Amino acid sequence: MKDNLTERLAAHLADGPHHLGQILITPISGGGYELRHRDEPPPFPALRESTGPDAARQLALYTDTGEFRPLKSAPTLRRGWRLLLADTQELHLALDYLYPAMVGIWRSHQNGTLTAVPLDQTLARQTGMYAAAKRIQNDEARALIQRTCSSAKCLKRILWEMAPGQPVDGLPSGKMSPVLDPGTTACDEIPLLCHEACNILVAEARQVVKQRERDAPQPERQTQSTSPES
Ligand code: SF4
Repeated sequence: MKDNLTERLAAHLADGPHHLGQILITPISGGGYELRHRDEPPPFPALRESTGPDAARQLALYTDTGEFRPLKSAPTLRRGWRLLLADTQELHLALDYLYPAMVGIWRSHQNGTLTAVPLDQTLARQTGMYAAAKRIQNDEARALIQRTCSSAKCLKRILWEMAPGQPVDGLPSGKMSPVLDPGTTACDEIPLLCHEACNILVAEARQVVKQRERDAPQPERQTQSTSPES
């Protein structure tokens, strides 16, 4: 039977507020939902109010200081807003602007149909200018993942391995688990899940390889003697 994602979302949220990334989702009695930043300090009436899912697209674009957010799962969501949504369809659309595809991926994970793709397979698929990323070495990849995927940079939880049977190491265990440690948050959480390395990690892998290859000592050229024969 086809899973109706919007209906599943409504059923999941029926028992009260939930977190998704940096958002607090609160069902409104009488219908609809309110979204705001989960760490918003009171007083809440000071928040700028918007309605409808299109406003979420704008909220996702820039940080508080006006910088573009290329990675929507970065912990840089701006504050000071409150978004009112009329129903679960509007909510689903707004969440897709704020955290693209994350509701669907969460649901696939719940269904047991989500397949995590090991990093070596993601890199092996790269072509064109990104083909260089295939040549990243294991120690370089580990250091890169620690720099790029840490919770200070990205809120997703990593489901993929470096290669089949070779887990990612060097990150806290909570970063590698799809479930939250009990008691770490005041309300239920829909996790942000990373089932395949993103374009940002692949692009960084390419940079690491290119830098190493640029820095490698060049083989010495044979120099021709210009001195006249004696
Ligand atoms: S690979 Fe996944 S965890 Fe790492 S930065 Fe990209 S989205 Fe975040």
